[in-house]
Amino acid sequence: MELNSVKDARINAPETDVLVVGAGPTGLTLACDLVRRGVRALVVERADDLFPGSRGKGIQPRTQEVFDDLGIIAAAEAAGGTYPVGMIWKDGERQGEHRMSDEAQPTEDAPYNRPLMVPQWRTQEILRARLKELGGDDVRFGAGLTELTQDEEGVTARLADGGTVRAAYAVAADGGRSTVRAALGIGMTGETVDPNPVLVADVRIPALDRDNWHMFPPAAEGGGFLAICPLAGTADFQLTAQFTDGTHPDTSLEGVRKVVAARTHLAADDVTEVRWASDFRPRAAMADRFREGRVFLAGDAAHVHSPAGGQGLNTSVQDAYNLGWKLGAVLRGGAPAALLDTYEAERLPNAAQMLGLSTRVHRGEERRGEATRQLGLGYRDSSLAVETRTGLPEGALRAGDRAPDGPCGGGRLFDAFRGPHFTLLTVGTDTELPPLNRELVRVHRIGAYPPYGKGVFLVRPDGYVGWAGEDATGPGLADYFKLVHGER
Ligand SMILES: Cc1cc2nc3c(=O)[nH]c(=O)nc-3n(C[C@H](O)[C@H](O)[C@H](O)COP(=O)(O)OP(=O)(O)OC[C@H]3O[C@@H](n4cnc5c(N)ncnc54)[C@H](O)[C@@H]3O)c2cc1C
Repeated sequence: MELNSVKDARINAPETDVLVVGAGPTGLTLACDLVRRGVRALVVERADDLFPGSRGKGIQPRTQEVFDDLGIIAAAEAAGGTYPVGMIWKDGERQGEHRMSDEAQPTEDAPYNRPLMVPQWRTQEILRARLKELGGDDVRFGAGLTELTQDEEGVTARLADGGTVRAAYAVAADGGRSTVRAALGIGMTGETVDPNPVLVADVRIPALDRDNWHMFPPAAEGGGFLAICPLAGTADFQLTAQFTDGTHPDTSLEGVRKVVAARTHLAADDVTEVRWASDFRPRAAMADRFREGRVFLAGDAAHVHSPAGGQGLNTSVQDAYNLGWKLGAVLRGGAPAALLDTYEAERLPNAAQMLGLSTRVHRGEERRGEATRQLGLGYRDSSLAVETRTGLPEGALRAGDRAPDGPCGGGRLFDAFRGPHFTLLTVGTDTELPPLNRELVRVHRIGAYPPYGKGVFLVRPDGYVGWAGEDATGPGLADYFKLVHGER
């Protein structure tokens, strides 16, 4: 598709601040985050409804923290559940349990420490409901973007429903085959992780118990690994089957029944329903850049991973969370547009790291565990990470790191962080504070607390330490505020 000029259409196009293209997890997360900052966001979606499948079903601990901040963690927990233990089957006999990931218990500084299973369609419903609750416009369905142009002041888009929209910025959250990315001429560089296609389907199998994630290693004659996972909060199972014998997945009810009967002890008609099915070849690829002028790429439009390790949806949500506050600060807070440059600078290396991790998990070279939980991810190398203390011990919390939870007054630090503001946190010091715009920055003082050490920490709206100093007079704090808030 070409980037056609749509000069005439600009004149009558309704205005919005941010045009969000695609109502997947990325687009919906971004819209929620923007709307709660008073930014107008219009989500346009090519399909007539939200995506119906369970595919990205693992909500990692870091994403649970994001959902806590967005006010939807209770809904996600109520809709989902924990992962069941794997059970290896052979010739109709249970061979023993198999744990997919290293276990971790919740701690004071990391209250969410295990993946939560929520089918992707359910997560999307929760995000859409939250968007409406926050006062945002509902998704405009049947309105795929067909053309996009940009100029110095904004972007103009034509939609498949005949409409035209003018916005200050656009975000391509339109998935791995992104129309917007293609229109901008941004390439994807990557590799096929596995040449064998994979069938993924949401099925009903009433005869199968829901206590385990049932795993059927390939028989000697081949065919590929097959797994059937009970989907928490539903009566469905998510079935995945590799096709290593050169055949191609058949997504029909008959096709799914055939593969189940051939590779498990179940009978073909034990599969009573296929509610959604698709097939894919695991790829790891990343867009060559995440921004072109006033258009940003986020989520699968910017990077695609193997589903192994459950990183795709999570990395996508975090792109949106990184971009949301920055767009809000520029559009509503008076921050210089240069703040938006930090989106690609922070997220591209992060996505590259995640691509490698997903590929290693897919190939069995790394177990799911600490890295896949995503709590260790941060932005220490970013220009937005200003660490002014010296001589910090190994392992100390530094600017750029995720800000841990902990006690704060009668509540929790995560309660103090929740919302669109910055938080200036003093830990174990009664240092004087400079004059602050209290609408934009909330101040909390806590006593010495080991996960933080001692000092003053400016926590960004997305929960990372932006600036850290021994006291609030340290160098760079005023400049930091100029970058994220302008002169206000
Ligand atoms: C088969 C499959 C299995 C997967 N399994 C897992 C898994 O087990 N774990 C995991 O973490 N991740 C998994 N993923 C990845 C995960 O689903 C994605 O990372 C996640 O959906 C990315 O969200 P997104 O919002 O960026 O893109 P998407 O969810 O793809 O959403 C993009 C949206 O944009 C819409 N759209 C497309 N073009 C246009 C247009 N021109 N105009 C308007 N709208 C448009 C689409 O209709 C869609 O609704 C899987 C992906 C696939 C394809």
